[in-house]
Amino acid sequence: MVHEDAARRTNPLGISESQLRIVWVYPDLLSTYGDRGNMLVLARRAQLRGIPVEAVEVNSDQPVPVQGDLYLLGGGEDLPQILAAHRLRADGGLAAAAGRGAVVLAVCAGYQVIGTRFGGVDGEPVDGLAILDISSGRGERRGVGEVVADVDPALGVPRLTGFENHQGVTTIGPGASPLARVSLGVGNGDGTEGAYAGRILGTYLHGPALARNPGLADLLLSWAAGPLPPLDPAAEEWARRLRDERLAAVAS
Ligand code: GLN
Repeated sequence: MVHEDAARRTNPLGISESQLRIVWVYPDLLSTYGDRGNMLVLARRAQLRGIPVEAVEVNSDQPVPVQGDLYLLGGGEDLPQILAAHRLRADGGLAAAAGRGAVVLAVCAGYQVIGTRFGGVDGEPVDGLAILDISSGRGERRGVGEVVADVDPALGVPRLTGFENHQGVTTIGPGASPLARVSLGVGNGDGTEGAYAGRILGTYLHGPALARNPGLADLLLSWAAGPLPPLDPAAEEWARRLRDERLAAVAS
């Protein structure tokens, strides 16, 4: 899927290509709960601002390209998650892209996979990509349901809404910061939700996360493409209604 129009205006990565290259990593293994919607939202919000987008889906039997600008990973069941971690480590493309400053959004299983290790099917540790300083184990009960979480003020993003369904609990190391503090739900399991460091960001939130949280989508786009003009409020209407509806549904 390729969309082209005018040349890209800014390129903080200093790469000569003109498009914003979005790479959806392993949709065959990591893509539960409509997480592919994150790619659609990013592409749409970029195109509304005149930023041309090339969106690529890379299955687990294909090499992960190193020259992408923004990489997306979704949630997954335990066994596909372990397979994804093994293949991503063997491939090396995503870690190399992160090393050269690409933006990464990883959701749930994907979030655990980009950490140093996570708990496998019987809780045994499985090595992750170690591009985000987090490690995950298996909690005593699944976190299932709606989440509301207030984002680190340094990021300037409104409160997050989403839903979670995971067994994993996550500890954030000194090289990363919590993305948000939960006011409803489980998140990492210690009162925080998600984590970020530099341009790498992980979250337990599905929904998909960026459909419910366009502010988070724009944060990621700005990391990849530079400062963004605001959108026409009419273009935001459906996103605002979805967000308001989900937040109102859990308001006490
Ligand atoms: N298998 C992981 C867990 O249960 C992730 C689940 C998911 O991605 N929804 O923690």
